[in-house]
Amino acid sequence: MRLERPARATGKKIVVIVGGGFAGLNAAKQLANAPGVHVILVDQRNHHLFQPLLYQVATAGLNPADIAVPIRAQFRHVPNIDIHLGRVEGVNLQQRVVFGGELEIGYDYLVLACGARHSYFGHTEWEDFAPGLKTLEQATEIRRRILSAFELAENEIDPDRQKAFLTFVVVGAGPTGVELAGAIADISRTAMRGDFRRIDPAQARVVLVEAGPRVLAFFSELLSERAKRDLVELGVEVWTGSQVERIDADGVTIGSQKLLAHSVFWAAGVEAARLRIQPPVETDRAGRIKVTGDFSVPGQPNVFVVGDMASFEIAPGKLLPGLAPAAIQGGRYAAAMILRDIDHQPRTLFSYRDKGQMATIGKSRAIAEKGRLALTGRAASRGSGSCATELMRRVGGQEENASAEPAVSGRSARNWHAA
Ligand SMILES: Cc1cc2nc3c(=O)[nH]c(=O)nc-3n(C[C@H](O)[C@H](O)[C@H](O)COP(=O)(O)OP(=O)(O)OC[C@H]3O[C@@H](n4cnc5c(N)ncnc54)[C@H](O)[C@@H]3O)c2cc1C
Repeated sequence: MRLERPARATGKKIVVIVGGGFAGLNAAKQLANAPGVHVILVDQRNHHLFQPLLYQVATAGLNPADIAVPIRAQFRHVPNIDIHLGRVEGVNLQQRVVFGGELEIGYDYLVLACGARHSYFGHTEWEDFAPGLKTLEQATEIRRRILSAFELAENEIDPDRQKAFLTFVVVGAGPTGVELAGAIADISRTAMRGDFRRIDPAQARVVLVEAGPRVLAFFSELLSERAKRDLVELGVEVWTGSQVERIDADGVTIGSQKLLAHSVFWAAGVEAARLRIQPPVETDRAGRIKVTGDFSVPGQPNVFVVGDMASFEIAPGKLLPGLAPAAIQGGRYAAAMILRDIDHQPRTLFSYRDKGQMATIGKSRAIAEKGRLALTGRAASRGSGSCATELMRRVGGQEENASAEPAVSGRSARNWHAA
C-alpha cells in the first residue's frame, strides 16, 4: 500500500513524520494548514504520551488516560494532516520510502522522531525481572507489581518472603529512578497507611541503586546532595557506587551482595529507537543518528532526525539533552525549515533555549536548576507541577487533566485486578 498516492495528486510536497511524541507532534503542528504541504504522521500507538508523568501512573497517582492524548484528536480539524497507525521498520533513502509490514510511504521530506527505548547494557534477560518505564503498558505493569507486592506480603506468613515482597529496588538514579523511588516510598508511607492488617506498608524498603558516585548526576553537586537528603528523609536507601551484576527472579546482585526483592525496576539506561536505514547512517554509542546543524542527516537535506533519536551537537562535545523541550524545539525547527525550503528561503540556524531541568522527589519536594538558578523543596515542587501542567497543555491540549492532578493523586488510580 503506497499511502501517499492520493495526496500526491494534489501536487503538494509529502512530509512523512515517524513518531507522534514531543518532537513529531510538534513538527506536525507547525505544518498544520501550511499550503503546499501534505503530512502523514505515522505512530505505532494511537496516543501521544506525556512521559514525564509516567512515574505517577506507575505509582498509582494518576490514571493512564490522564497522561495520554489520542494523536488523531489533535488534528481533527486539520485537513492537510493524515494520521496512520503503524510501525515503521526502515527507510530506503535512495527510493525515498519508509516501510514496515504492509506499509510503504513515499516522501519528499522525512522527519524521524521515534524517541528512545531502554538499554539493559547487553543484558536483555533482565528485562522480564526489571521492567523499565517508557510506555503506558510498562507503567501499568509496574503499578501492578507494586500493588500486588503489598497484597502478597499481607498474605505471606514466612517472614523472609514477606520482607522480599516489601523490598523495592530501583536501578538507576537519574530523574526517572529518583522520581519512581521517591513515589514508592511516599505512597507506602501515606496513601496506603492503615489499609492492611498484617503488614505495615510504611515498613517497605525502597532501595535506589546507582553505579555512579551520586544521584541526579546531571545536576550540580549541591542539588544532587539535596535530592539525596530528601530521598533519605522519605525513607529511600540510596546506594551509590553500586554496580548491578545480575537481576533475576529473587532480586539483584551487587558485588558479593544479594538484595532479595520481589520488585525490581529499571531506570538505568536508554538508547535511541532503531530503524533499518539504507544506506546506513552514522550513529553514536547510544544509537542516536548523528545529524548536522539543521537536524538533517549528512548528505540528505530532506531527511531530519529530531528528539531523543538525534545526536545533535549544541557545542563541541556537548549534545542536545534528551528532554521534552529539546524534542519540541527540534521538531518545530525541522518543520519550519521544510516550509522555508518550499518557499525558497535559506535555512536559519537552530538555537536551543535551555528551559532548565527538574526532578520531583515524593509528593511535595523537588529540585530544579536553570543555569545558575536553583530551587529546592516545596517551591521547586510547585514549579514542577506548573511546568508539567503548562507542557501538557501546550503539547497535548490536556489542560484539564493536568490541573486535576492533585485531586487524583493518591487513591483513585489504585484499582487493580490480579491477573
Ligand atoms: C519516565 C520518563 C520521565 C521523563 N521525565 C522528563 C522530564 O521530567 N522532563 C523532560 O523534559 N523530559 C523528560 N523525559 C524525557 C522526554 O520524555 C523525552 O526527551 C521526549 O519524550 C523525547 O521526545 P521524542 O519525540 O523524541 O520521543 P517520544 O516522546 O518517545 O516519542 C516517540 C514516538 O515515536 C513512536 N515510535 C517509536 N518507534 C516507532 C516506529 N518504529 N514506528 C512508528 N512509531 C514509532 C512512539 O510510539 C512514540 O509515540 C522523561 C522520559 C521518561 C521515559
